[in-house]
Amino acid sequence: MTRIEPERIHRLNDRPLTRGRYVLYWMQASQRAFWNPALEFAVDLANEHKLPVLVCFGLTPNYPEANLRHYAWMLEGLQQTAQAVQERGIGFVMRLGNPPEIALSLAHNAAAIVTDRGYLRHQRAWRQYLAERAPCSVIEVEGDAVVPVERAYSRAAVSAAVLRRRLQPLIPRFLQPLYEQAPQTRAVLDEPSLDLSDIGEVLSLLTVDRSVGPIDLPSGTRAARERLRRFLEKKLSFYADLRSDPRQEMASGLSPYLHFGQISPVEIAWEVARVGGPGAETFLEELIVRRELATNFVWYTPSYDRWEGLPRWAQETLQAHATDPRPALYSPEELESARTDDPIWNAAQSALVRTGRLHNYLRMYWGKRLLVWTAHPKEALRIGLYLNNKYALDGRDPNSYTGVGWCLGLHDRPFPERPIFGKVRPMTPEGFKKKYGTITDRALL
Ligand SMILES: Cc1cc2nc3c(=O)[nH]c(=O)nc-3n(C[C@H](O)[C@H](O)[C@H](O)COP(=O)(O)OP(=O)(O)OC[C@H]3O[C@@H](n4cnc5c(N)ncnc54)[C@H](O)[C@@H]3O)c2cc1C
Repeated sequence: MTRIEPERIHRLNDRPLTRGRYVLYWMQASQRAFWNPALEFAVDLANEHKLPVLVCFGLTPNYPEANLRHYAWMLEGLQQTAQAVQERGIGFVMRLGNPPEIALSLAHNAAAIVTDRGYLRHQRAWRQYLAERAPCSVIEVEGDAVVPVERAYSRAAVSAAVLRRRLQPLIPRFLQPLYEQAPQTRAVLDEPSLDLSDIGEVLSLLTVDRSVGPIDLPSGTRAARERLRRFLEKKLSFYADLRSDPRQEMASGLSPYLHFGQISPVEIAWEVARVGGPGAETFLEELIVRRELATNFVWYTPSYDRWEGLPRWAQETLQAHATDPRPALYSPEELESARTDDPIWNAAQSALVRTGRLHNYLRMYWGKRLLVWTAHPKEALRIGLYLNNKYALDGRDPNSYTGVGWCLGLHDRPFPERPIFGKVRPMTPEGFKKKYGTITDRALL
């Protein structure tokens, strides 16, 4: 049996296991064949009942805010995952439709359904929908956090410091390797499935926004592991000193892979802790404390994507300064097409549109400037989320809502009051240039 910490396992209904042809794993958030507790749990359960495992993936053309860029990248990763799963003797089926409906369409032959955990509103609603309608037991296994969100803290943490104190004593218990278990009954299932060998063909079935094109960055678990390996070898030891400098490439670039669940945060943290040395502690602070602060935020804050999700002091101070004169007001179209009078901001926005990525420090600057150029901070929040989620490959993530929210005071402390920002931490072009000079578009390629 694989050792999966009981705190990762959540029963979503009280139905029993039934007689079935397979244990169904509805894959949604953890799109990987390795270090995936939901998959290993399904294998254990199937072995116990002498059944094969069938993995299903419901491909919805209506995933919130997703466009061709996101779909193309996700499908490339899923192509590899399907192959890796099948090489383990596990069936893999992908069908077009509403994800929980796809799982339900395979539920009548399932002894039990296992799924992974997603933290956003629609992901939670999908799981609840399935649990209410499935004729069998539905079990959710949490694999995309080092410390399970409810085990870490029972409410929204006001700051990283608060969550860090909770996480630190728990990390050794949850930072453990997860070994694959061989399925004892191989899947010989003939369930109809989309053919993933031709991604272009699958994409042609989707009516999605095609205005944001795919980007040239390899997707999938293999690429994620390769990136991690290079990061450990060449960058980790410089990470603590140089990660904030946008002119250096010292960050891992793993966020898109984490967003699509192509690599486990536990695997990354395990490898980083194993290598150790300078940089490891700083990196683990970002990967575990900061990332799981975002998970904590969306899990416990129903209005995580709205003004009401910001701390009260930030709402009050920003509101009090909402009528302060702005140096310029730009329309959403001007912002989207990088037509401001700030070359640094324009470079950041253009890079985001073109490459789907943005360095963390520049991203903070990018988000903060929106406050200065929009008529109301509510508009800054709205346009920040819109641009981030539309263009960033790692967008539409708990980190997206926390990152944009942070620019407006979330998880931060009050600073001395000044125009427009009020007590929210400011960032100015002068401050940026003093630290890093003028960043050009080219430097961000
Ligand atoms: C305005 C704004 C918007 C953001 N939007 C997103 C987003 O859509 N998706 C996203 O994943 N991150 C977002 N972030 C957080 C951060 O910018 C990215 O996680 C980070 O830049 C990803 O690059 P990396 O993988 O090279 O990070 P690394 O520095 O290599 O860090 C490793 C991992 O730690 C986590 N991490 C690092 N920095 C942060 C942080 N500040 N907060 C939370 N987790 C962090 C990420 O999972 C990251 O992949 C946003 C930040 C801001 C200020």
